[in-house]
Amino acid sequence: MTEPGAGSDLRGMKASARQDGDDWILNGTKHFISHIDIADFAIVFMASGEEDTPRGPKKLITAFFVDKGTPGFTVREGYRNVSHRGYTNGVLEFDNCRLPASQVLGEVHKGFEVANTWLGATRLQVAATSLGRADRALGHAVEYAAEREQFGQKIGKFQGVSFKLADMAMELKAAELLTWEAAWRFDEGNVTEADMSMAKLKATEVLAMVADEAIQIHGGMGLMDDLPLERIWRDARVERIWEGTSEIQRHIISRQLLRAHGG
Ligand SMILES: Cc1cc2nc3c(=O)[nH]c(=O)nc-3n(C[C@H](O)[C@H](O)[C@H](O)COP(=O)(O)OP(=O)(O)OC[C@H]3O[C@@H](n4cnc5c(N)ncnc54)[C@H](O)[C@@H]3O)c2cc1C
Repeated sequence: MTEPGAGSDLRGMKASARQDGDDWILNGTKHFISHIDIADFAIVFMASGEEDTPRGPKKLITAFFVDKGTPGFTVREGYRNVSHRGYTNGVLEFDNCRLPASQVLGEVHKGFEVANTWLGATRLQVAATSLGRADRALGHAVEYAAEREQFGQKIGKFQGVSFKLADMAMELKAAELLTWEAAWRFDEGNVTEADMSMAKLKATEVLAMVADEAIQIHGGMGLMDDLPLERIWRDARVERIWEGTSEIQRHIISRQLLRAHGG
């Protein structure tokens, strides 16, 4: 979905698909595309038209399957990422790439419906994996605070340290409960966008806080790669950006609140 000029604002996408007889012709650039180096094909969302709405013209989006090796479709190496160093991303270039209609995924102009069938679930996945790493960081912090001595006593005896542990544990539990509830509602078939956004937002922000505080409790050793904390801390950074930034999650949550009041 993402383009150099269109990230959060997906409908701002410039890459386009136009119909030519029964075929579609794709043009434009996508970037930050996860694992395209090892994929056999891409699922690509393209602007395929425009509709008039009371709030002005709105782009229509269509999803396509595009096999690697299709003429007019080039994959370039992406950027190097500080988080998840084993997680690659790439750039997709489309230059008059011709596809048969059979490679439309879902219905023409209904690409957002396709995306929405899994975007919520991947937000829950981000929440769940963030919680696992936060739990691990908290475990290290508790162990270290119970063992490490300074000024003749365990550092966990200092409220400056123990209160951090209390906040980390409480915030983690709150994030876990939000995630469990959203996942349960997902299974029940009555989850809302806001439920999933709250879980993603809270879990990723708690991971950032817990990872940072766990390093603080370890002092200098926290930054050394002898321990997993520096990696958890680095990897945590992207979780507040991909699958919709924290600001976009807040937008989704507040939109649901306001819409109920005609706002
Ligand atoms: C490692 C990695 C892998 C990725 N993999 C994929 C992938 O496989 N496929 C894919 O399609 N995308 C992928 N993405 C893209 C990811 O979804 C986007 O980076 C993300 O949606 C944000 O878009 P952007 O980076 O263009 O930031 P922008 O949208 O330019 O945002 C910049 C800042 O402005 C803020 N902002 C924007 N709009 C608003 C608003 N309305 N209100 C308040 N604040 C706002 C944002 O929150 C952010 O802080 C990946 C990104 C990364 C980093």
